[in-house]
Amino acid sequence: MSMNLILMGLPGAGKGTQAQKIVEDFDIQHISTGDIFREAMKNETEMGVAAKKFIDKGELVPDEVTNGIVRERLSQDDVANGYMLDGYPRTIDQAEALDQFGTELDRNVDAVINIHVEPEVLIERLSGRFICRTCGATYHKIYNPTKVEGTCDVCGGHDFYQREDDKPATVKNRLDVNIKMNTPLVDFYQSKGVLHTVDGDRDIDAVYQDIKAILNKLA
Ligand SMILES: [Zn+2]
Repeated sequence: MSMNLILMGLPGAGKGTQAQKIVEDFDIQHISTGDIFREAMKNETEMGVAAKKFIDKGELVPDEVTNGIVRERLSQDDVANGYMLDGYPRTIDQAEALDQFGTELDRNVDAVINIHVEPEVLIERLSGRFICRTCGATYHKIYNPTKVEGTCDVCGGHDFYQREDDKPATVKNRLDVNIKMNTPLVDFYQSKGVLHTVDGDRDIDAVYQDIKAILNKLA
């Protein structure tokens, strides 16, 4: 019995943490796009070599190559028990390609787990980081605040700043781009009847219990 999954969620939704728990409990391969690109290039697979040509020139890797790399990975024996894709597919074209080679390999997607958190909450989560200008200690206004408001625990300094990436406007832009990409994919898998949306705005274990219940029904 295999279990072939896609894990979806916006930045900050807690995908990484949940992914770790899933592969710990269920004997399936966590396949993240970054990792398999690196692997394919290192092992000089047909698609790895093709991808490297684009990357070396600083060009975007075309869909055929990205799809090819995922296909190569899903063809390997260690995926027989199942896989969990993370960071793929990113577009409808890719989703359709996956549908096709998944069928050819007899390794079709059984379920898509979509960890949903409202964008406003994600902005809070992702834009809360701030740094002490004097000593570089990092804090988060929700998860790791200073013991005394406005005073660094380490050096007693009062001067803090936020990195550009952590500023609410930057975070909001990043989320908007991701929402635009994710929405059609969510609809696509919804229409295929394999989408499971989990409320990610709760503590890690509560979210995981929901995911586990969904996966236990598949197994
Ligand atoms: Zn400090």
